[in-house]
Amino acid sequence: MKFNKKLQNINTYEAGKPIELVVREFGIEPKDIVKLASNENPYGCSPKVQDAVSKIIPKMALYPDDSMLKLKNALTKKYEMNDENLIIGSGSDQVIEFIMHAVANENSKILMNSVTFAMYEIYAKHVGAQILRTKSQEHNLEEFYELYKKENPEIIFLCTPNNPTGDAINADEMMKFLQKIDKNTLVVVDCAYMEYAVYKDVSKQVTPKELIEKFENVIYLGTFSKAYGLGGMRVGYGVSHKNIIGELSKLRPPFNITTLSLEAASVALEDEKFVNNCIALNFDEMKRYEEFANKQKIDIIESYTNFVTLCLNETQNSTQLCDALLQKGMIVRDLNGYGMNAIRVTVGTKEQNKRFFELASALL
Ligand SMILES: *Cc1c(COP(=O)(O)O)cnc(C)c1O
Repeated sequence: MKFNKKLQNINTYEAGKPIELVVREFGIEPKDIVKLASNENPYGCSPKVQDAVSKIIPKMALYPDDSMLKLKNALTKKYEMNDENLIIGSGSDQVIEFIMHAVANENSKILMNSVTFAMYEIYAKHVGAQILRTKSQEHNLEEFYELYKKENPEIIFLCTPNNPTGDAINADEMMKFLQKIDKNTLVVVDCAYMEYAVYKDVSKQVTPKELIEKFENVIYLGTFSKAYGLGGMRVGYGVSHKNIIGELSKLRPPFNITTLSLEAASVALEDEKFVNNCIALNFDEMKRYEEFANKQKIDIIESYTNFVTLCLNETQNSTQLCDALLQKGMIVRDLNGYGMNAIRVTVGTKEQNKRFFELASALL
């Protein structure tokens, strides 16, 4: 059988190893496995979400509300915008996929940071677009601008805070940058961890409202998978000018969000207290990672998210460390594939983090 040639040089996305796999491969009891690999909220989701979802289980035989009225109302209220500015995806991942198919083709150029979210590249390859990257590890907007001027890309991805490094772009600088970009280039501002960044430092805050009021060629991406603790429900969204949303909507499959997920996300938005509490705990626990890094004399990148990036010394090897941790039931992310001798660790609960410190100190 002949397959689409564009698929030939795509590496299948490697998700954080699920707990079940570690149970099978290493024979470790599920209770002894700690997963700090996918930046999930270690405190789960609001108990109100669990109540609401269990109540609508009897509705499972019916197709979901494809207008997504309840969730759209909750989001438009929170972000003070209109329905026509909003698209909901099965994770913000799916919105990235829509964007790529709506805007790019094999003649397109897509500009992104040297180290950034792996899915941008994978979706760009789906359409055969050329990928351009900056050199600096952190987003350097001057470098972005130079490449933009020279190459005139169709899409620019800014990821703030950035995954897998945790650093965030200063909002004022981003606004100045966006003003210099021509309306024919779409700028995607991926804010999967914005809830965390805002808590730590408001100078990093970008809001969908501000972006769409000022720019007709920018799309804001948000997700329920991180701070809201709903990774398993697969809900994300894009906020943009109505013309862009209109085009993306043509690519959206009907019923792309399940009834349970729609309910979960709507109710999650009502319980801001739960989310804020989780975020506060996150930054309390993050201090212990900073202490750990100091003690081990390894570098830690200042993080505005719910994960930390630990950059190992020359004598240490991130892949070996991750393998050794895995054998002890500790799942973290090796950043070797991103060209870094570093690991990314989701900030977990106190007990999970303690376990990480014990295991990692014995191996470093
Ligand atoms: C997790 C993540 C997403 C999307 O997650 P979904 O679960 O698909 O909503 C998007 N961008 C970044 C940078 C992420 O880390």
